[in-house]
Amino acid sequence: MGGIDKYSGLLYCVDCNSKLYFIRGTTLKPDAWEFNCSRYRKHMGEEQCTPHSIRAKILNEIILEEIHKVTYYVRAQTREFVNFINQKSSAVFHRELNARMVN
Ligand SMILES: [Zn+2]
Repeated sequence: MGGIDKYSGLLYCVDCNSKLYFIRGTTLKPDAWEFNCSRYRKHMGEEQCTPHSIRAKILNEIILEEIHKVTYYVRAQTREFVNFINQKSSAVFHRELNARMVN
């Protein structure tokens, strides 16, 4: 697997809100590839965080399980899902519009 990981820029530490850093190394097998808190990796003294490690393989399994749950929900409750997405999209749109008007 080369290039940028599919989760790049999307994962944040639950404690310090720093981005999670993808570690694959040259000696690690793909099953051992993981994400760690970038603040922990920088060794920032008293502000240092803990690793908050999660294996990429486990993260993929969690995401896949969530996709299956959403897919099941969409099939069972299609109308409610469409309404939810329309409301969500509208709320996000209004939030972005308000942020632009302030700046
Ligand atoms: Zn952290």
